[in-house]
Amino acid sequence: KTFAESNLPENVLDCCKTFEKPSPIQSHTWPFLLDGRDLIGIAKTGSGKTLAFGIPAIMHVLKKNKKIGGGSKKVNPTCLVLSPTRELAVQISDVLREAGEPCGLKSICVYGGSSKGPQISAIRSGVDIVIGTPGRLRDLIESNVLRLSDVSFVVLDEADRMLDMGFEEPVRFILSNTNKVRQMVMFSATWPLDVHKLAQEFMDPNPIKV
Ligand code: AMP
Repeated sequence: KTFAESNLPENVLDCCKTFEKPSPIQSHTWPFLLDGRDLIGIAKTGSGKTLAFGIPAIMHVLKKNKKIGGGSKKVNPTCLVLSPTRELAVQISDVLREAGEPCGLKSICVYGGSSKGPQISAIRSGVDIVIGTPGRLRDLIESNVLRLSDVSFVVLDEADRMLDMGFEEPVRFILSNTNKVRQMVMFSATWPLDVHKLAQEFMDPNPIKV
């Protein structure tokens, strides 16, 4: 499979121009995710999984923004990515920023242990994609800064690690604040019972497994 065969717009593929072809996880996930399906991916960092969900996420947001139409300024985010750690959140955010900017999309990364002020003003100025860690995300929702009611594309990255770190409660809280009509992607290195249960509760009954 080549990038040309993916039929994606040129500006969306801008971030891939140094790559020869889509990685295996990308060519396996893109068709399903671009078709709106929920998906569970068992994959590790280094497989190209960030763009495996990132490119479809960007396509989803672009479609939604077009529907809303020009003129009306969108304030609430459309896409949310949950990460267990600040390091991974920043890493994802760097990739999504590089990929989203040529398409005019704004993203923000929020995590604990840093001052809230700049994160709050960035959210208030309007963002398309929010990447964050569970604690800070819950905090920003509870203080009415972050509204997830328009979030219709959700990614849970390293889901097993997120639950291992004790984030099950905030993750559930955050997910229940997103739009009821949403597409969801979950990446996990392992598939323990608690991750399985979370998927059963919040995802389509028949997600694609890759
Ligand atoms: P990730 O698994 O998303 O952390 O990506 C791991 C590394 O693979 C990053 O340095 C990416 O820039 C790189 N990468 C992502 N997609 C591709 C691709 N299609 N071909 C080659 N490298 C890629």
